[in-house]
Amino acid sequence: MDLKKYVTIVEDFPKPGISFKDITTLMDNGEAFKYATDQIVQYAREKKIDIVVGPEARGFIIGCPVAYSLGVGFAPVRKEGKLPRETIKVEYGLEYGKDALTIHKDAIKPGQRVLITDDLLATGGTIEATIKLVEQLGGEVAGIAFLIELSYLEGRKRLEGYDILALIKY
Ligand code: AMP
Repeated sequence: MDLKKYVTIVEDFPKPGISFKDITTLMDNGEAFKYATDQIVQYAREKKIDIVVGPEARGFIIGCPVAYSLGVGFAPVRKEGKLPRETIKVEYGLEYGKDALTIHKDAIKPGQRVLITDDLLATGGTIEATIKLVEQLGGEVAGIAFLIELSYLEGRKRLEGYDILALIKY
């Protein structure tokens, strides 16, 4: 299936110069969403995943059906202040200023093989921070799966040494 045709490109959103890849038109198509999910599930099976981890909010949308299908758990990575129990935190640079991502301290057991999911790989900053959280808890990042990779931003370079699946490339 050609998944690219289900992605809607919105130019100059959320600000001038950004070519926004809107995945909602892929998600609201049952066949396309199932096909994409099944591709990631197959990849996760090969990597012998114990748990799926995804950053809010679109990492949840991609990761949860994969976890359900594999019969493994899903652990959310969230912006600071959103998770109710003890967390660890990683700060990461944004275009302007800093942001922080957190995960519950007991979300991953040492040695677990983790699949990280998100909708889109741009600069790789979000996933780099997510990797740090997983590794600080003793998890092993066995694979990273995206619906979309913006190759021209070279996020892959930042994630060198990790195994990456991207279903759609620009
Ligand atoms: P990054 O940390 O730069 O890899 O970007 C992380 C997040 O920003 C992705 O998970 C996307 O949700 C969002 N994002 C960045 N660029 C785009 C884009 N061109 N279209 C849609 N979402 C984007």
